[in-house]
Amino acid sequence: SLVKRFEKKQGTIFRRTKSTVHAVNNVNFSIKKGEILGIIGESGCGKTTTARMVMRLTKETSGQILFDGQDLCQMGERELRRARQEMQMIFQDPYDSLNPGMPILEILMEPLNAHKMEVPFEEKRKLVIEILEHIDMKPAETFLYRYPHQLSGGQRQRIAIARALILKPKFVAADEPTSMLDVSVRMGILQLLKSLKEEMGLTMLFITHDLSTAAFMCDRIAVMYRGNIVEIGPIKEIISNPTHPYTKALVAVVSDLHHFLGHRHEMILDGEVQNEVVQGGCPFLARCPQQMDTCQNSIPKLEQLSNDHYVSCFHLHPESLISANKQAN
Ligand code: SF4
Repeated sequence: SLVKRFEKKQGTIFRRTKSTVHAVNNVNFSIKKGEILGIIGESGCGKTTTARMVMRLTKETSGQILFDGQDLCQMGERELRRARQEMQMIFQDPYDSLNPGMPILEILMEPLNAHKMEVPFEEKRKLVIEILEHIDMKPAETFLYRYPHQLSGGQRQRIAIARALILKPKFVAADEPTSMLDVSVRMGILQLLKSLKEEMGLTMLFITHDLSTAAFMCDRIAVMYRGNIVEIGPIKEIISNPTHPYTKALVAVVSDLHHFLGHRHEMILDGEVQNEVVQGGCPFLARCPQQMDTCQNSIPKLEQLSNDHYVSCFHLHPESLISANKQAN
């Protein structure tokens, strides 16, 4: 059952001097309670913008974001503040996201104070110690008066996670939480997030550019390309049966997934995400090895491939090709 549901329809537009770039376009997805939905794609594909919009940190130009049935886009400041208590974000850069002038105790008390938790200082200190123990920073008392610069990168990201979780939110958006860390500590942070998700019954939106990380963390993934979701479904299904040409290319380059697949997908893409706006054509057109004439003047819609697996490519269903041809003519 969809107890918790997010939807983002239409888009957010970033204007540049010479052109208009749709950072996110017609993105529409839901997250089931207790699952981790990953968003994966190259940098600039719109995954961080999507997470920031869900958290109301970036404003959309149109659409809805539903949280427990309430549209966050329609909320006033006071309502939004209340909703934010249940929705938290973990940012990519633990060096930037923690105030260097504050000791850990103060950093972790900040969300409690911001949400006006009317409890005495000693109670709040107890909550800080509890959350520090939860994230394996023990003995917790030894960290209370340290500053961020006195911690390692991995420890800083643990503090950022603790700060996001101290209010016991229902939902967390994690934006590439390990990409700025040394490889040696990444797995520890991912395992911590996974176990906290289980213990606290969290629902999570997990942003990554790395398919192996998504395979480890996520129940389902949405693959984004140039602001559009091009494929969405259960992670195992997408890795074993990638269908959109872009997803096939992503799977093909991740060698440690090949034992999972039992075979190798041979598809490597040339070039990078194109900046030019494709007027009326498939967003993946410029790099697609399977393109057809239709792809130049019609945009494929997400269509159901199987139970929970959706793909936007004209190769999926001959019917969509026929209807696109009719539109084009
Ligand atoms: Fe490639 Fe056409 Fe499919 Fe787009 S619709 S991914 S261009 S085959």
